[in-house]
Amino acid sequence: MTRSDTFRRLGQVLVVCAPSGTGKSTLIAMLRDEFPEIGFSVSYTTRPPRGHEQDGREYHFVSREAFVAMRSRGEFCEWAEVHGNFYGTATKPVQAMLDQGRDVLFDIDVQGAKQLRRTFPDGTCVFLLPPSREELVRRLTGRGTDSEASVARRLDNAADEIRQADFFEYWVVNGSLDSAYQELRAVYLAGRCKPVLRPDILGSILDQWGSDG
Ligand code: 5GP
Repeated sequence: MTRSDTFRRLGQVLVVCAPSGTGKSTLIAMLRDEFPEIGFSVSYTTRPPRGHEQDGREYHFVSREAFVAMRSRGEFCEWAEVHGNFYGTATKPVQAMLDQGRDVLFDIDVQGAKQLRRTFPDGTCVFLLPPSREELVRRLTGRGTDSEASVARRLDNAADEIRQADFFEYWVVNGSLDSAYQELRAVYLAGRCKPVLRPDILGSILDQWGSDG
């Protein structure tokens, strides 16, 4: 516990979005390394696992039928179709972590971030940007893992997401990894200090200091 016990806190939501190729996975991994206590929202997806991905760690991998059934039971606080696959966030595990005072990090797309704000209006939403279009093209083609068509589709998606950048409270431009990381961690720490109306915090403040009326 890094704060006074008097101020028992609820967890904070941190949503990180970025166009493909911006370095989101690397930056999220760095944040989770430095702050291992942050909970991670493990999404449900209908896409098959890649490489070393493990069910329950990167994602819960489910069939389309299972996903649709969960969706119709209202188990997702947000969901979206990305590149032909469904992705969604189950509300219950996230709420449980927040209730325990754990912060929760979301790696979701822009459509999801917009929906999530309705459930967690006090959350912090940060958008990662490439330094330029040219640099994003260079990074996407440089990976050597994507076909020309796939690079073109990712660029289209990137343009689409960047046009919605004004939704986000914070922008971090990933030109140099080190400075982008310093900014992302600053955004996370700033989010933890928001004077949101957490009933237990407000209650303990009023108990100690009285209300002004
Ligand atoms: P990938 O298949 O490459 O892991 O993810 C593709 C995109 O889907 C990424 O932008 C990722 O952030 C997004 N994504 C992952 N999980 C979710 C989710 O639960 N909801 C939404 N809306 N997007 C997600």
